[in-house]
Amino acid sequence: MAYIINDSCINCGACIEECPTEAITAGAEKPDIDADKCIDCGACAGVCPVDAPVED
Ligand code: SF4
Ligand code: SF4
Repeated sequence: MAYIINDSCINCGACIEECPTEAITAGAEKPDIDADKCIDCGACAGVCPVDAPVED
């Protein structure tokens, strides 16, 4: 399991610094989550203003 970022993302970047495993990297439309690094902690979802990170 890993989190993914859905299309409601406004690319604010807040989740990138929040991730404890540096699984999230910046992208042109929205950040990308490396499923191999994601530990399902939910920190990205907690900081996101639009609830874009969801469990895959
Ligand atoms: Fe990073 Fe946790 Fe979000 Fe996974 S759930 S991308 S480990 S902040
Ligand atoms: Fe997108 Fe939410 Fe991350 Fe901001 S915090 S970049 S809106 S997923």
